[in-house]
Amino acid sequence: MLELIADAFPALKAMRHEMHRHPELSLEEEWTAAFVADRLRELGIEVHTGIGGHSVVGVIHGSGPGPSVALRADMDALAIHEQSGLPYASKTTGKMHACGHDGHTAILIGAATHLARTRQFRGTVYLFFQPAEERYGGAQMMIDDGLLARFPAERIFGLHNWPGLRAGAVVVHDGPVMAGTGEFEVTFTARGGHAAMPHLTGDPILAGGHFVTGVQQIAARAIDPLSASVVTIGSFQGGIAQNIIPTKTVLTGTFRAFSLDTLKLIQRRLEEIVGSAAAIAGAQGNIRFDDGLCPPVVNTRAEGKLIRDVAAELFGESELESLPPTMAGDDFGVFLQHLPGAYIWIGNGETGEGAGLHQPGYDFNDDILVRGASLLAATAERALA
Ligand SMILES: [Zn+2]
Ligand SMILES: [Zn+2]
Repeated sequence: MLELIADAFPALKAMRHEMHRHPELSLEEEWTAAFVADRLRELGIEVHTGIGGHSVVGVIHGSGPGPSVALRADMDALAIHEQSGLPYASKTTGKMHACGHDGHTAILIGAATHLARTRQFRGTVYLFFQPAEERYGGAQMMIDDGLLARFPAERIFGLHNWPGLRAGAVVVHDGPVMAGTGEFEVTFTARGGHAAMPHLTGDPILAGGHFVTGVQQIAARAIDPLSASVVTIGSFQGGIAQNIIPTKTVLTGTFRAFSLDTLKLIQRRLEEIVGSAAAIAGAQGNIRFDDGLCPPVVNTRAEGKLIRDVAAELFGESELESLPPTMAGDDFGVFLQHLPGAYIWIGNGETGEGAGLHQPGYDFNDDILVRGASLLAATAERALA
């Protein structure tokens, strides 16, 4: 399998670099989607575009009727100014493929190359090239636009590169892989006024302070200690001078957990703490949750076993590693709300300071393109054997 796809390496590497030069933010992936659609058409693959944004769906039929499986890659980039110094670095100031989605997309094109030319399976392989993974919930947008009705996959598989993990090594989690996430914006308002007369104004800064300390109690007191969760306030803005109590403060943050129930519990506690913090400080409080909740990525047992077995056969048992799950999120979890599947990590190799995921020195490791493509292609073949 590795040898069968190895001859595609120069082409996959060139495609990856081309995509790296042209990063597009979530919801803006027009050039990338057209690039992917062209590559699939060159392979003689049936192509559908524009399902829930700048997505591409490829359909590969096997040698006869049978079950179906989907393989997914994400295509969007991040609002980061690249400082990798690479010859194929981003040509767009302030935008960068800093999560390796250019690599994931090239890997799925590599898997498609093999599946389209060999067709050694029955049934159908669907290729889901997804937009807006980093923000705005591209997976949900595709599903809301009828993705699974038009392309009824019965199982789904995908991968994410993992810096710090030996290049090409594979991690398949039993159950939770990545956390579910929610984001919020809190506004405290009051009359504001003279710093020396707080009894006349109410204080949105004090309300914000109570809110920041109050949310620390969620993981400590409201959640089962055996269930991981985190709430972080990432911004706190308000005030203009040392002697004026302002009329408004705005705080934003994110929360993560490994079950939707826990995420909902955190949401409820956040609402309650906003109300209490506002009351203590004589202010009014309001909380707004962005984009709904993104569910956790939790592998189903049979699909985790399937892709682990395939990886062991292709690369050898010694290439299977184990790592704890991460509190980082990925909207692959949205697909797993609808169908069984597994999301695996493939090692991107050791990276230096400032070269991790979402950092300006990051780069995807081309040496894992063929491995990733082989693993996804062989997984599809096994699922449809
Ligand atoms: Zn990312
Ligand atoms: Zn990513």
